[in-house]
Amino acid sequence: MKIDILSLFPEMFLGFLETSIIKRTIDKGLVEVNVHNFRDFSLNKHQKVDDYPYGGGQGMVLTCQPILDCLKSLTTPESTIILMSPQGVPFCQELASNFSLSKHLIILCGHYEGFDERIRDYVDVEISIGDYVLTGGELGSMVVSDAIIRLLDGAIKEDSHIDDSFSNGLLECPQYTRPFEYDGNVVPDILISGHHANIQQWRHQQSLKKTYLRRPDLLENYPLTQEDKVFLEKITKKD
Ligand code: SAM
Repeated sequence: MKIDILSLFPEMFLGFLETSIIKRTIDKGLVEVNVHNFRDFSLNKHQKVDDYPYGGGQGMVLTCQPILDCLKSLTTPESTIILMSPQGVPFCQELASNFSLSKHLIILCGHYEGFDERIRDYVDVEISIGDYVLTGGELGSMVVSDAIIRLLDGAIKEDSHIDDSFSNGLLECPQYTRPFEYDGNVVPDILISGHHANIQQWRHQQSLKKTYLRRPDLLENYPLTQEDKVFLEKITKKD
């Protein structure tokens, strides 16, 4: 996979691209990530990339020319063009999983007051990372790229994201590691029982419970079995 990111602040990506799993995945050749400063494409003699909004108002708006020339220089028939925007589709694990199948992603990061509206005609999808406004699209593009890159085959241990929250529609079950007892608080006995099937059932039920208590909205789309429903009814009565 190749990811091209268009940003006015490429230096923001240094830590992201040179640390931990993202760095290892790049080093393994599973993904190539390039950050392009679209200011380099500005035809303005002062390399301006923004201008005052028509009709008046606060702040500066990113102009079409530098971004679209940079975009055109990178686009191929295999490209999916993403624009980072608080007005976009909320990002989620399902989108990350769909994007992880793409051969080439191009991500546009805005800044200042955002983009000239006509830039939107050249993108495939607008993505928001939440209902708040950031100073620029850089952090969002890193969030999106990170969630996609860790899903690439070989990026992390096979199967290790299968039980992640959202991957199967539920939040992940509670996890414990050594020591067995910490500050009087012990690991649930079932996890040291050695009964694989019972452990699996306990984990599934704990996932259901966590999801029910923290994100009941997720259960609306989850195919609950009869056994799941009976288990959840008990929690409803107890809590
Ligand atoms: N005036 C714009 C609006 O109200 O929609 C917000 C502009 S924001 C200050 C500058 C840039 O940051 C945006 O163009 C976008 O690229 C990025 N950005 C800000 N918040 C974001 C969010 N929640 N998700 C994704 N990108 C965001």
